[in-house]
Amino acid sequence: MTELVREDGRVRGVRYRTADGVTGEIRADLTVACDGRHSLARRQAGLRPREFAVPIDAWWFRVPRLPGDRPAALAPKAAPGRFAVVIPRETFLQVAYIGRKGTDAQLRARGIEAFRADVAELVPEFRDRMDTLRSMDDVKHLDVRVDRLVQWHVDGLLCIGDAAHAMSPVGGVGINLAVQDAVAAATLLAEPLRNGAVGPSDLAAVRARRILPTVAVQTLQRALHRALVAPLVEGRRAGPPKPVLALLHRFPQLSVVPAYLIGVGLRPEHAPPFARRSPVAG
Ligand SMILES: Cc1cc2nc3c(=O)[nH]c(=O)nc-3n(C[C@H](O)[C@H](O)[C@H](O)COP(=O)(O)OP(=O)(O)OC[C@H]3O[C@@H](n4cnc5c(N)ncnc54)[C@H](O)[C@@H]3O)c2cc1C
Repeated sequence: MTELVREDGRVRGVRYRTADGVTGEIRADLTVACDGRHSLARRQAGLRPREFAVPIDAWWFRVPRLPGDRPAALAPKAAPGRFAVVIPRETFLQVAYIGRKGTDAQLRARGIEAFRADVAELVPEFRDRMDTLRSMDDVKHLDVRVDRLVQWHVDGLLCIGDAAHAMSPVGGVGINLAVQDAVAAATLLAEPLRNGAVGPSDLAAVRARRILPTVAVQTLQRALHRALVAPLVEGRRAGPPKPVLALLHRFPQLSVVPAYLIGVGLRPEHAPPFARRSPVAG
């Protein structure tokens, strides 16, 4: 999508350019902006988010996955100033290296050798495979943001997911919220769309339904930034606070709370009957 189509003060669809350079226009009764945290659609619609300070950025890279990798290699690793989270994929390990916000230029200026050494110190199990990172081009910087629109719609356009509320990676729930927004939007808007009359109040209803879990999760993420993440990346602490670890050690059942919040969330959404496949016989 390159541009919103507007007529009579209303969004009427989008103009696009494909990878092959083909351009065109798609007209629609409703345009749903689900184009992420740098949403062009929300910017062109004149919707401005309220932004919250974030202490971290993330750098993604891959290293080969080896048959002998033990679970210990996959556990999150922390050292003063930085930490790493390892996500096992089928043939490789995806690594999120988390450091202080605004330090991408500095990290790149130090070069690949220094970066390899940093990671090998953090995750010693990776020492012998760091040369698979050939240059800093293999390390992708991701600008972490937390923000939220006050109003998620203008006439003819609705923002959902990160376009409405950019989420931090902390807690790993941004994708859940984005999918839940989509399910809520489908449930609430199917009927008005069928009737060919989606008005601003229908669009406002989607935000009204989804604002509670959005604010709750972002508030929790910001609290975790302050209490856990900032002390780590600012080098004030080298791991999670001891009282938290002691509490979880004494009452392991407590880990159900974050697991529930991540897996189910505060306001789960269920696909409406019209969107479900009929059961397969047998
Ligand atoms: C470093 C980092 C790590 C994260 N880790 C996790 C995690 O482990 N688990 C989790 O749940 N959440 C995680 N999050 C948050 C999560 O990524 C987002 O909350 C989630 O992806 C939002 O989904 P979305 O569909 O709204 O946006 P996105 O996933 O960003 O998708 C937007 C899509 O729109 C496309 N797009 C953008 N502009 C245009 C355009 N002009 N025209 C057409 N298409 C366009 C993009 O290519 C993209 O495919 C992480 C975030 C960051 C920054």
